[in-house]
Amino acid sequence: MNAAQENGAGPSVLEVEGLKKHFPVKKGLLSRHAGKVYAVDGVSFEIGHGETLGLVGESGCGKSTVGRTVLRLIDPTEGTIRLSGRDVTHLSKTDMRPVRREMQIIFQDPYSSLNPRMSAGDIVGELLRVHGLGTSAERQEWVAELFERVGLSRAQMDSFPHEFSGGQRQRIGIARALALNPKLIVGDEPVSALDVSIQAQVINLLMDLQQEFRLSYLFVAHDLAVVEHISHRIAVMYLGRIVEYTDKRTLFTDPQHPYTEALLSAVPVPDPRLRRKKMVLQGDVPSPISPPSGCHFHTRCPYAEERCRIESPPLREIAPGHTVACHLR
Ligand code: SF4
Repeated sequence: MNAAQENGAGPSVLEVEGLKKHFPVKKGLLSRHAGKVYAVDGVSFEIGHGETLGLVGESGCGKSTVGRTVLRLIDPTEGTIRLSGRDVTHLSKTDMRPVRREMQIIFQDPYSSLNPRMSAGDIVGELLRVHGLGTSAERQEWVAELFERVGLSRAQMDSFPHEFSGGQRQRIGIARALALNPKLIVGDEPVSALDVSIQAQVINLLMDLQQEFRLSYLFVAHDLAVVEHISHRIAVMYLGRIVEYTDKRTLFTDPQHPYTEALLSAVPVPDPRLRRKKMVLQGDVPSPISPPSGCHFHTRCPYAEERCRIESPPLREIAPGHTVACHLR
């Protein structure tokens, strides 16, 4: 039984093993090879049916690249991606076509991700048309049902993106992602561009849809507060690597990695008696072109020791289903 099954989430929809994505850095007129961006550097996780994995870290940690690589929007440098047990890591464009129906994405910016010249109904129905599914009338009816399911009206199918609010536009993005009945949806910071009050509505909608369609989510965010409500498990990323990976409850009540502690200390606690230890991180995330030696986090970690500068801590299981990459744990 894998961790997703132990979590009550059923067998894995997605299994990712040792995923790496390195981008070449070119310089000068002759595009000389000048190094690599280690955007994703050996990441492993799995997501069960009906499960949400929150993938969290500061901007530039590689979390969005993980989402896009999993969807094969970009090719991995190394590692394995399995969807419902099938290895899709090296499938050709043609072979990926039917697989694409099973995994969809919701983008961060609901405005720029919608074609301003297409009606909302055409945007949601476009993938049905591209995949040649149903008659025109059947597609129209399915799109209308999706509109209602995400909290929009049938009458709004004829409106254009600029006629909707930010929250409504994200609902169109969600309806589009649902159109092909996918198993897995990658949410790439899907609520970060929305007002806080609207964020909660969209997250609740995503959770209702998960129940109804037994969807699995990879939910990418830079803020632990955003993923707290929706996630079953959470993976914390720092400079291309997962540094802590466990169920939500354990992560919030018993964080073991200093970086998780720092991210958590920024999350507001409703009960003031449960105040968390304040830990403010100094500086920005170092460049992924030349990440620090040893533990990537040592340049910002308040507990760093000499060996942290030299030895990279492996991701170790410190309790069932709880893995941490830190020499002190
Ligand atoms: Fe901090 Fe060292 Fe642990 Fe890295 S290995 S998180 S530098 S204590």
